[in-house]
Amino acid sequence: MKHRFILAACAAMAVAGSLTIARAETPRWSIVIHGGAGVIDRAQLSPDLDAAYRAALDKALAAGAKILAEGGAGLDAIEAAITLMEDDPLFNAGRGAVFSAEGRNELDASIMEGTGLKAGAVAGLRTTRHPISAARAVMEKSPHVLLAGADADRFAASNGLEQVKPGYFFTERRWQGLVRFLAARGEAPPKRPRGVPKAAKNVAHTAVKAAAIDSATHGFGTVGVAVMDQKGQWAAGTSTGGTTGKRWGRVGDAPIIGAGTYAQDGICAVSATGTGEYFLRLGVARRICALVELRGLSIQAALRQVITSELTALGGDGGVIAIGPRGETAFGLNTSGMYRARLDSAGDKEISIFADEGDPR
Ligand code: ASP
Repeated sequence: MKHRFILAACAAMAVAGSLTIARAETPRWSIVIHGGAGVIDRAQLSPDLDAAYRAALDKALAAGAKILAEGGAGLDAIEAAITLMEDDPLFNAGRGAVFSAEGRNELDASIMEGTGLKAGAVAGLRTTRHPISAARAVMEKSPHVLLAGADADRFAASNGLEQVKPGYFFTERRWQGLVRFLAARGEAPPKRPRGVPKAAKNVAHTAVKAAAIDSATHGFGTVGVAVMDQKGQWAAGTSTGGTTGKRWGRVGDAPIIGAGTYAQDGICAVSATGTGEYFLRLGVARRICALVELRGLSIQAALRQVITSELTALGGDGGVIAIGPRGETAFGLNTSGMYRARLDSAGDKEISIFADEGDPR
């Protein structure tokens, strides 16, 4: 009941202020990024963390935008922005990923370009530093679309992608998130991973405070980027550690083309974040594109239908970033926040976190 009330309140907020779109003129290039969606309360996000997230979003946005402004490929812009966020422990992707119930970081990512509908994805990586680069290698250097597990790490290594010890991905905040997640279910935490720093008392305390901003069900912070480049290619990519306490080799929506990521030139590019099971069941990214392509909906109308209405009705939570048919950037979410940012060739820029923040266009 309480859950339903929260979702209804969030849906109202989504209608009020979180479906936004850039100006009417057609940009030469555009980029929109997210760093995860969920229950983000002003009261819990300290001014320091708030500023840190905004700075990290700005940095990733600038890295992608620079490539696009210089006439570079959208796929390069996506990889540049996402690898920065994968290296940043603030985000649930690469270093800073959440932990599975067994105490492991298992990383998922995907990338797609809208010209030839080529796509690549990886699931359950444990040693590849940049999962988004592995997804791109699958797209460009293999005959497949989705590779999983240790063999996918081996494929990445054989294509020259940096391999790290699993402890590289460890952060105290996400570990404490797992401890809290399991404690709420009356379960003991797994053994602390080998080779990671011992939990000093003050470090653990700071991390517990930071972990407290994460949702009870999952520590969000998935990252994604959607772009339109100057050659007229739409593309999107997503990278995540998945959901805290995931079990049994669980794979979410992020590496599934059509659920967490989709791109089609002249129609749309989408990257999603939220509880992946709902995005999988709705085929969210492809569904948004199909509404634009087949029903002629504007990108914001498609987001309203899929995120505000359908995802909410199913009990799902999260959001998406999207680029529409004219290169316009758009956000849609049914949660109280989504770390997000956008910029286009006309200089239309926004960095925002809370659902009621940002330009209501
Ligand atoms: N969608 C991701 C997953 O379910 C998690 C997230 O975006 O927060 O794996």
